[in-house]
Amino acid sequence: MSNILYSLFKQYPIISTDTRNILPNSLFFALKGANFNGNAFAEQALAEGAAYAIIDEPSYKKDERYICVDDVLESLQLLGNTHRRQLKIPVIGITGTNGKTTTKELLHAVLAEKYKTYATKGNLNNHIGVPLSLLAIDDQVEIAIIEMGANHQQEIEFLCAIAEPTHGLISNVGKAHLEGFGSFEGVKKTKGELYDYLQDHQGTLFIQADNAHLQEMAAQRIFKETVKYGFAENNDIIGKLTVADPLLSIQWHKQGEMESYDVQTQLTGSYNTENFLAAIAVGTHFGLSAAEINAGISGYKPTNNRSQVLKTAKNTVICDYYNANASSMAAALDNIDVIKADQKAIILGDMFELGEETAVEHAKVVKRALAIPASRIIFVGHAFYQQQQEGAEFYQTTEQALAALTQQPLTDTMILLKASRGMKFENLIAAC
Ligand code: ATP
Ligand code: MG
Repeated sequence: MSNILYSLFKQYPIISTDTRNILPNSLFFALKGANFNGNAFAEQALAEGAAYAIIDEPSYKKDERYICVDDVLESLQLLGNTHRRQLKIPVIGITGTNGKTTTKELLHAVLAEKYKTYATKGNLNNHIGVPLSLLAIDDQVEIAIIEMGANHQQEIEFLCAIAEPTHGLISNVGKAHLEGFGSFEGVKKTKGELYDYLQDHQGTLFIQADNAHLQEMAAQRIFKETVKYGFAENNDIIGKLTVADPLLSIQWHKQGEMESYDVQTQLTGSYNTENFLAAIAVGTHFGLSAAEINAGISGYKPTNNRSQVLKTAKNTVICDYYNANASSMAAALDNIDVIKADQKAIILGDMFELGEETAVEHAKVVKRALAIPASRIIFVGHAFYQQQQEGAEFYQTTEQALAALTQQPLTDTMILLKASRGMKFENLIAAC
């Protein structure tokens, strides 16, 4: 069956999985979700232009355009892997707790200065997104960058088996999805599955070698090749943050070389310094000149509510509400702390999926935020509401916070907006 599917894919190399967006002459994979059965949409997909529908319930088969397999999801994953094996190109796998998408976008921006590069679109980083990303790589592509996300153990091992990365990078390890991983040790073990894969397949490791956790994880394994980046002089690529007002400028150089480079970027968030250095290390490894690397970095402008700076009529807003967990929250607070501004406001929403650590981690954030000289500090959400203290405003919902901001608006202020995505902080922008 896998051969049949692969030859169909060669003829119809576009995949559809959603009947709201069927591409002409595509292969429709009838995936199942918690609340839907794709098999029931196969007929509609064919009517809307799909060439074939891959289903796994024979009762839905009406004619020869229905291909019945044992399991649609497994077939998609197998097809993704079969296609990946035909591609004789470097595949860079990226995982980590925070910064995967940003690092992926930066690597893409840099490598695209020299190569035809494909990178995961958006955040398609799971057991469905990874095969879909692989299947979107055509034979013109010279390097691919695949983001891999995980919220439980062995997920990265599984995604590596599909994507077969030749190069790998863990952006960092921190506290997120603790409900699924069990503990911080569980996070390290899972992210470390990428290192295991590289070790077992003679892959190249890119590592932020000043990060003690990553260093410990790397030291337990042996790699064919390691490229180190970070702040200390013993790295291959060494850099530092020079300006954060709030957009960042960085300076970097190669180990043993006198010449250093200054780059003005379009991102905020001091934590992004290491994401830039990752892109510089990868660019250098693949033979790009410093000028090409710097052009890629300075040209990258985020549009995805990650580390984005928005000038509104009244204020400057740091939009970082794409997601939040304990470590990215701490990083965002460190960032607003170092930014120079006459007036600052900090508006934080609940961090989801922290399991048993919810109360402790929210209490830590409240303490950290209250230590920052800000004219107004606002906490939003039920978890923060349990941690009420003097010196800040607490609201249970984003609607209540919006009402408070509308009634008592902020002006001429540098505002940090950060929360888990489900808090819908985009609704606060109107009042900023
Ligand atoms: P997801 O798990 O949703 O795919 P991600 O790992 O792809 O997330 P990004 O979307 O790039 O991460 O960034 C999310 C947020 O993480 C950023 O807005 C920022 O607050 C924080 N972040 C980014 N890079 C780092 C870093 N190197 N260290 C700590 N926090 C970071
Ligand atoms: Mg992501």
